[in-house]
Amino acid sequence: MSATQSFWSVPQRAGEPAFRVCMSCLSEVFYLKVPMPDCPTCHGVSTYEAFTIEAIRDWGTDDLIAKAGLAEQAASLEPVSVTSAKSAD
Ligand SMILES: [Zn+2]
Repeated sequence: MSATQSFWSVPQRAGEPAFRVCMSCLSEVFYLKVPMPDCPTCHGVSTYEAFTIEAIRDWGTDDLIAKAGLAEQAASLEPVSVTSAKSAD
């Protein structure tokens, strides 16, 4: 068993939440990416749905909310391979 987790990157679309939560175990959350080939906790496939941080804070466990915050922080520190729309100037 490898400890390395691979991800699909999920480009952010206008009006779509950036967080992906596993609806099967509700204990995994990622920011603009989803683990592949399946959820590292419950091994569910295609169980991830998009949520805003506000929604996660509304119904998520403290652990899930903390994970969401860390995921967003980590994403902002990593070079992003996904090209986001730049504002024209
Ligand atoms: Zn899961």
